[in-house]
Amino acid sequence: MTGRKMADKKGDSGSESDSTEEPVVGNVNKFAVVPPGYNGRPKKGHLIFDACFESGNLGRVDYITEFEYDLFIRPDTCNPRFRVWFNFTVENVKGDQRVIFNIVNFSKTKSLYRDGMVRIPAKHVYYYRCPDHRKNYVMSFAFCFDKEDDIYQFSYCYPYSYTRLQNYLDNLEKKNYNFFTRELLCLTVQQRRLDMITITNPDNLDPEETKRIVFITARVHPGETPASYVCQGIIDFLISNHPIAKTLREHIVFKIVPMLNPDGVYLGNYRCSLMGFDLNRHWQEPSPWAHPTLYATKNALMEFDRMDFYIDLHAHSTLMNGFMYGNTYDDIDRYERQTLGGCLEDNSHCYTLEVSFFSYQTNSSNMKLGRNLARTFLDYYKLSGIISTKPTSSIVPKPGPYRLRDRQSERDQSNDVGYEESRQQRRSSYRNSEFNINNTNAFSETPTSIRLQLRDRENKRY
Ligand SMILES: [Zn+2]
Repeated sequence: MTGRKMADKKGDSGSESDSTEEPVVGNVNKFAVVPPGYNGRPKKGHLIFDACFESGNLGRVDYITEFEYDLFIRPDTCNPRFRVWFNFTVENVKGDQRVIFNIVNFSKTKSLYRDGMVRIPAKHVYYYRCPDHRKNYVMSFAFCFDKEDDIYQFSYCYPYSYTRLQNYLDNLEKKNYNFFTRELLCLTVQQRRLDMITITNPDNLDPEETKRIVFITARVHPGETPASYVCQGIIDFLISNHPIAKTLREHIVFKIVPMLNPDGVYLGNYRCSLMGFDLNRHWQEPSPWAHPTLYATKNALMEFDRMDFYIDLHAHSTLMNGFMYGNTYDDIDRYERQTLGGCLEDNSHCYTLEVSFFSYQTNSSNMKLGRNLARTFLDYYKLSGIISTKPTSSIVPKPGPYRLRDRQSERDQSNDVGYEESRQQRRSSYRNSEFNINNTNAFSETPTSIRLQLRDRENKRY
């Protein structure tokens, strides 16, 4: 299977739910598109579309010409307003067959497509208001299938499925780390697992101990796959042998719920749960039957007397790079309705980390962003005196230019996490008194850079 085209998409303006003449329900299932009037078996070159697989999404295909097809995103289950995520395969192609695919029913108009957000040559992609489709925004792209026997996969962004997460967690469990536990918080409506993992030195779980808790969640919005790569980067770092990870485990309890909406992820939704709820709007009073994953996660959160951080990982469809939202709305009602922040203690720091769907080139840069987020906790806890400011020799950067040999020795210290950061970056991250994440991708024109302005909630008026 080849992920030849990874088109990402769009934005934040309102949804126009009248774009399709007929409701699009269910995914296409090995659907062969043949010319009108053709009755025989599909021949080579009669494209076969399929989205009946995990996280798949394609609701309908219309034959326009031999070279052109209109594609319809299947709306979120029980919520036709959201049509953004797509993920489908095409097979039965002829060698060098050229086609134009038009994705015609996006529910949003603003899009990073306007900023060139595609991972095929930009000259082959057009994003425009189309007079033939009630002036909807249409994303059209030209594609040339080169190998007859390949199956081609197209998706809005790199997929990260429920099964992938389960395999990842299964493998971590097998390592039997004494600082890693995985627990089942609840089952979803469709009987999938809601996992919570805990990463900390087991001594910290002593009920007598005062715990410093960092709580992290991701994928409340199922289409926001980059959030999962960030989350995996955080976990990979925290379980590594890196001295910073070890120090953090000694002092901090990390609780991570990597996939808050497993059913939505499985179903290939963009925004909603199986029952069509945008779960991020239901933290205030989650229902145990309608929003079981929120209900269980909130109960887990409320078990702690205090929490230092709650960070929810998202992906943003119209803005670039990565950035944080602090939950600091002036309008307290809006703030409490929309976020978990209103449920937390006043002295908890509550953030939404948004990473763009587009402005990173590889998933490994998102994982690196996650790792850097984890590292910033050391800065924070040193500044707040929780972790001794006298660093151990193993984590003090040595003076002098960055050398390959240093890098090798760093690698030796960290079997699980490779290091691509420069010595200079590391040094500045130690020195910097701000809560600061820098994620520089050596291969990208645009470094992904996040600056968290850590403002104490005590200083704010809620
Ligand atoms: Zn989101």
